[in-house]
Amino acid sequence: MSGTTLANGPLAVFGGTFNPVHYGHLRSALELVEKLGLDELRLMPCAVPPHREQPGCSAQHRAAMVELAVAGEPRLSCDRRELQRDGNSDSPSYTYDSLAELRAELGGKRALCMVVGCDAVRDIGSWHRWRELLDLAHIVVIARPGWSLPADGEVGSWLRDHAMDAVPNLCERPAGGILTQELRPLDISSTEIRELLASGRSARYLMPQSVLEYIQAHGLYR
Ligand code: ATP
Repeated sequence: MSGTTLANGPLAVFGGTFNPVHYGHLRSALELVEKLGLDELRLMPCAVPPHREQPGCSAQHRAAMVELAVAGEPRLSCDRRELQRDGNSDSPSYTYDSLAELRAELGGKRALCMVVGCDAVRDIGSWHRWRELLDLAHIVVIARPGWSLPADGEVGSWLRDHAMDAVPNLCERPAGGILTQELRPLDISSTEIRELLASGRSARYLMPQSVLEYIQAHGLYR
């Protein structure tokens, strides 16, 4: 298939807890859409077993905040499949299963990308069926300030073996490559936002005002 360009632009999914979503996530998502020529990027909140959920912030709230954050930007959306699949049970919701569902929906030809931060890549060797993720999708790694990718071990050689050096390669096949992208560094984390809110300080300008208003209206992260 190499050498031919696929008909539709790639679709990307960006998984995370988004507890809560902030401008670090959103700006990265938008920059990826433009740099990679994506048709669409979906932020996909992951399920967290109910007993490990942040007190006062359910999965439904996390997804509702993502929806508010992307409203008005047609290239970004929220994909709730992991929350729907998990329901209220403790059964794990695997990235592999989400990508397999997406691949079935898209058919075999369209490029699919899974976006991960490089902090997530360091753990990828423990993910369910991690090597087979590349059968379903490309992996796009966001280089994040202060983080480096594993160079040694199984994950290090897997990253090297599948590395793609240029964006156009994404469109030549539907899956199978690993592309690293350096994006605008924004040193914002959900952890810091939760700490600010819990201590009664402002999280304004770190996230969309609509998300902040939702947090206030629902009394989250106090
Ligand atoms: P927490 O502080 O609760 O760990 P977080 O801010 O890292 O949360 P997550 O929901 O865990 O957010 O992140 C989802 C994905 O977004 C991860 O792959 C993570 O690497 C990436 N990410 C998080 N913050 C940023 C940021 N500021 N810039 C770029 N990518 C980010």
